[in-house]
This record gives sequence, structure tokens and C-alpha cells, in this order.
Amino acid sequence: MRDKIPTPNAERRYECFECGTVVVSAESPGSCPECGGDLRNRGTPME
Ligand SMILES: [Zn+2]
Repeated sequence: MRDKIPTPNAERRYECFECGTVVVSAESPGSCPECGGDLRNRGTPME
């Protein structure tokens, strides 16, 4: 029985405090790729 496919990439959305860049990553990106600022976890994306 395989009626449910687990999500391999549990992506989360992070938003940069400094420039507002949104990074979607399964892992914590750590810092903004654009400016190196702190990223805030916005939780699971609503799609
Ligand atoms: Zn940034």
C-alpha cells in the first residue's frame, strides 16, 4: 500500500531581516545569500 507519498523535501521558508529576500530550503540556510543578514524562519510555505 503506497497511497501516501512522504515529502522528501520538507522545505521551509526563510525571510531575510535586512533585505527581505525569501529563501526556501529544507535546511537552515544560516544567513542571507544576498546580504549575509539574519534569516527568519517563516514556517512551512502555504501553497
Ligand atoms: Zn538579505
